[in-house]
Amino acid sequence: MTGERLIVTIDGPAGTGKSTVGRALARRLGLEFLDTGAMYRGATAVVLDEGVDASDERAVARAVRRAAMRFDWTTDPPTLLAHGRPMTDRLREPDVAAVISTLAAQAPLREALVAQQRAIARSHPRLVTEGRDQGSVVFPDAAVKFYLTASPRIRARRRAEQLRAAGRPADVDEIERDLARRDRLDAARAVGPLVKPPGAVEVDTSEMTFDEVIDALERLTRQRAPAGALAGARGG
Ligand code: C5P
Repeated sequence: MTGERLIVTIDGPAGTGKSTVGRALARRLGLEFLDTGAMYRGATAVVLDEGVDASDERAVARAVRRAAMRFDWTTDPPTLLAHGRPMTDRLREPDVAAVISTLAAQAPLREALVAQQRAIARSHPRLVTEGRDQGSVVFPDAAVKFYLTASPRIRARRRAEQLRAAGRPADVDEIERDLARRDRLDAARAVGPLVKPPGAVEVDTSEMTFDEVIDALERLTRQRAPAGALAGARGG
């Protein structure tokens, strides 16, 4: 992809719609989309599937580097590959969700994934990227930064709808407890904690539909992007 570098970051807690919104925003603006949550999920799956001792931080980072995770950008959304194999179905399985916050707190793993994310942005420099640390740690110089929030109940309901749509059982109370637990762990960790990045526009999506959120983010991005960076870019 050609054109001036333009990084748009979307951070926020689980269930605020970062992936759905980020993907749609990228399409509208003619940018590519990077789902860094998928990379943490992929790393967790690699560790579980290879029987790596999750408490051995160096071994975890080594196994993840060896897996040479990368995206196949020819699919929409891009498919995460580890050892050259697609991870798609594995990423949302319950055993991955159960331990991901523990692994995501480990400095060596975060260093490895942050380096990979910056390398991705070098070859895909026009990018909407979503996660917990994108505007704060990975791309502090991003042209446009968003911080999405929503009430815990609304976030749990949205996650439940996603699960049910995928044919999986979903209990809203249980999901709300799990989201609260993950928020606490994500916000409390020493490395790359969930924070509102300096300079980020906070958008509370509790009372907004996804379309309204996407419209708002598109408008704000067009206002804030450097002059000319989005000229003529109007994806379908
Ligand atoms: O966004 P998603 O729910 O897929 O992310 C899964 C988990 O990965 C989060 O709960 C968080 O612990 C971790 N994560 C992270 N930093 C990111 C993206 C995700 O720590 N940039």
